[in-house]
Amino acid sequence: MVPEATLQALGADLAGLDLVWAEPLLSQLSHDQFAYSPLLAQRLQHCVAQLVVRVHQREELIRVAAQCYRHQVPLTLRGAGTGNYGQCVPLEGGLVLDCSGLDQVRHFDPASGVLTAEPGCRLLELDRFLQPQGWALRLSPSTWRSASLGGYIAGGSSGVGSLRWGLLRDRGNLLGLELVSLEAEPRLLQLGPIEAQAHNHAYGTNGIFTAVTVPTAPWQDWQELVLELPDRPTALALGEELSAAALEIDELCYLERRLLERMPDLAGAPAVAGDRLLLLASPAAVPLIEPLSRAAGGQLLWQRPQWPPRGLLLRELCWNHTTLQLRAHDPNFTYQVVLLPEPATAFIEALEARWPGWLHWHLERIRQGGRPRWVGLPLFRWQGEAQLEQLNSAFRQAGGLLFNSHVLSVEAGGSGEVAADQLAAKANYDPCGLLNPGKLRA
Ligand SMILES: Cc1cc2nc3c(=O)[nH]c(=O)nc-3n(C[C@H](O)[C@H](O)[C@H](O)COP(=O)(O)OP(=O)(O)OC[C@H]3O[C@@H](n4cnc5c(N)ncnc54)[C@H](O)[C@@H]3O)c2cc1C
Repeated sequence: MVPEATLQALGADLAGLDLVWAEPLLSQLSHDQFAYSPLLAQRLQHCVAQLVVRVHQREELIRVAAQCYRHQVPLTLRGAGTGNYGQCVPLEGGLVLDCSGLDQVRHFDPASGVLTAEPGCRLLELDRFLQPQGWALRLSPSTWRSASLGGYIAGGSSGVGSLRWGLLRDRGNLLGLELVSLEAEPRLLQLGPIEAQAHNHAYGTNGIFTAVTVPTAPWQDWQELVLELPDRPTALALGEELSAAALEIDELCYLERRLLERMPDLAGAPAVAGDRLLLLASPAAVPLIEPLSRAAGGQLLWQRPQWPPRGLLLRELCWNHTTLQLRAHDPNFTYQVVLLPEPATAFIEALEARWPGWLHWHLERIRQGGRPRWVGLPLFRWQGEAQLEQLNSAFRQAGGLLFNSHVLSVEAGGSGEVAADQLAAKANYDPCGLLNPGKLRA
């Protein structure tokens, strides 16, 4: 924690800005959705900023950066606060900088679809801006309505669009950044796609974004589709067949019946009678998806255009919204993330043999290393840390690649390795280690 005298001096130097000193706002703006993990909840619920600053202009942000450096106060960045791993939680107190007020589109090129926008722009608002011009974001989380562009690039991983465009950190999904360093005289840097990559999924530990440049994709009238299938192997086989075909599919999610029965219904969708695949597919893909579903012994149950977004969206049953919906029903549920080996059914059978019925299966089809793969976000009732460790080991033994959702650091949640480019950028742009301390372990 920062000594009170230092904090008061910092506050005085930031006079005139939108400062938050008092509860309950201090706590609200210090936390994200870490409660999905009982381990993180225990670790993070008492971490609160000593001061929050809400900035509305780039110059204000640069002023905050300079003063935090001058007073050597930890600075943690915040977008919309929808992260799941405490990415924007200040572990060492200090100042939280809320970037959600930086919400202007800087530039859009309708010929190439390249978009430059400030980090606080909400993703759905960006799509509302792009749609009339015939373009759409390539990737967006299921928190499309609330999450910010900067928070998604710094803290997100994948989402709707990942079957076509891969993971957020795959090269090509971030084309540039305007970045502020944390130094006596903060530098304002324009980074191209190669240099920007060191800041992609770095939890705001190695520079502050003031603008983000991303490619977009031609707009499609994506159709929300619900397919019901007789059992899991049939559903997974159909999902694999569809994702291997020459079809435009932006989202493909498998949910087992037990999960669906505890989740809210999409408007007008028939009652659940089996496992389901939830898809966002182009209109041209539907005439093939329908007969392929029937040939597999299932059926296309329900269809609706995604745009304009109204009511409960199909994507709000997918990705970590599945976890949200189930936890609304029973808050003892948590989840883990694992990339499944092939064949996925053998992996699931190995886990089922060990803990019959404990895991509730939720899988997402993504493109990983250029190939379609299943990533699992299985849900289970929390039974303590030792049980989680056993589960993690069982995932690894069965050939899965774990993306641990119950850890705090950039490295621990990913491959476990330190990305050299992220570290070099940390040394270069945050030489005193003040940005989001504790999250880049190395
Ligand atoms: C129900 C639910 C569903 C979700 N689904 C998905 C999903 O489908 N895919 C997915 O990837 N994630 C998902 N998430 C996690 C989260 O919603 C997303 O990653 C989201 O994009 C984070 O954006 P945010 O604006 O809330 O960022 P925040 O949580 O506020 O911040 C995320 C990180 O970005 C950093 N940051 C913020 N602003 C800046 C800046 N200006 N410069 C540098 N760093 C900055 C923060 O320090 C923090 O480390 C889900 C979460 C929930 C609760």
